[in-house]
Amino acid sequence: MTVESSQDAAPIHRNPGSEPGLRHFEGFEAVLAVAGFPVLISLTIGIAILGIHRGMDPNLATLGLIVAGYALLAVAEQLWPLHRSWLHSHGDLRTDIGLALTNGVIAGMLSPILLAAVGVAAAWLSAALGSGLWPANWPLLAQLALALFIAEFVEYSFHRLWHEVPWLWPIHATHHSAPRLYWLNAARFHPIDLFAVGSLKMVPLAMLGAGLPIFALVNLFSAIHGAYQHSNVPVRLGPLNWIFSMAELHRWHHSKNIEEANTNYGGNLILWDVIFGTRFLPDDREPPEEIGIEDLPGFPMGFWANIASPFRWKQLSEEAADPNAPDAAR
Ligand SMILES: [Zn+2]
Repeated sequence: MTVESSQDAAPIHRNPGSEPGLRHFEGFEAVLAVAGFPVLISLTIGIAILGIHRGMDPNLATLGLIVAGYALLAVAEQLWPLHRSWLHSHGDLRTDIGLALTNGVIAGMLSPILLAAVGVAAAWLSAALGSGLWPANWPLLAQLALALFIAEFVEYSFHRLWHEVPWLWPIHATHHSAPRLYWLNAARFHPIDLFAVGSLKMVPLAMLGAGLPIFALVNLFSAIHGAYQHSNVPVRLGPLNWIFSMAELHRWHHSKNIEEANTNYGGNLILWDVIFGTRFLPDDREPPEEIGIEDLPGFPMGFWANIASPFRWKQLSEEAADPNAPDAAR
């Protein structure tokens, strides 16, 4: 895969599926577009911090809020969809549920082991330095902001590598094979992809000695932001699109046009894209409704075929390039 990603680079070809002009929202849709994400993220993070201050278990407090946030988004999509064509399954729903459950179990089992191992190294480091490096005396909200900024560097780097190093792309292709965007796409990742990025982005935080509440808050933020980033509801964040890697930016990242898709690598924050020149948000047209991988229209939709896809990439990509072939992997 090649890259032409910066908004400063050569002019990006207009996607044939995108109409000129920005869509105008009215009534409650307009309110939802502007306020939906800021209100949901403020409420969930605010309630979690309040709960942690009152002695609640951080993981338990955030788990309940994640479930509530997902439920709200799923209902909002049905009531105020951005695209009606994204409301129904395109053969992807069962696979997305399977990947969400698999990734949840793997992350729940392996991440604590990895972080415990890093914690030993962190304890040695802080003993050698005479004190911990993490600013544990800061307010939790400020600690969360710092943690997101640091973790995002790892997430941005891996995400960009998946796209720009050809032999790593098969690990990430499952995510881009999504034929539509909706809240559950936040979990449509190959388990290797999700585990690598989800765990390794926490490593620098563990090395610096961040506490359990910070890990829980980063997880909560990533879960709510990830679901909203992929959601099928109107979003208009204005200047906040210079801070968060929210839906208006991320929908371009799912474009079939490779020049548009190799941009906006940020998971939660767009700041590293701004720093490295890969942020892309045209102000004269909407992101395409038709999404996916241009070269692989017959990419398999099944759960096991997706799990196997990085290991049989050559055969699969030959079959998927021609969806009419008798053996096309489905
Ligand atoms: Zn991607």
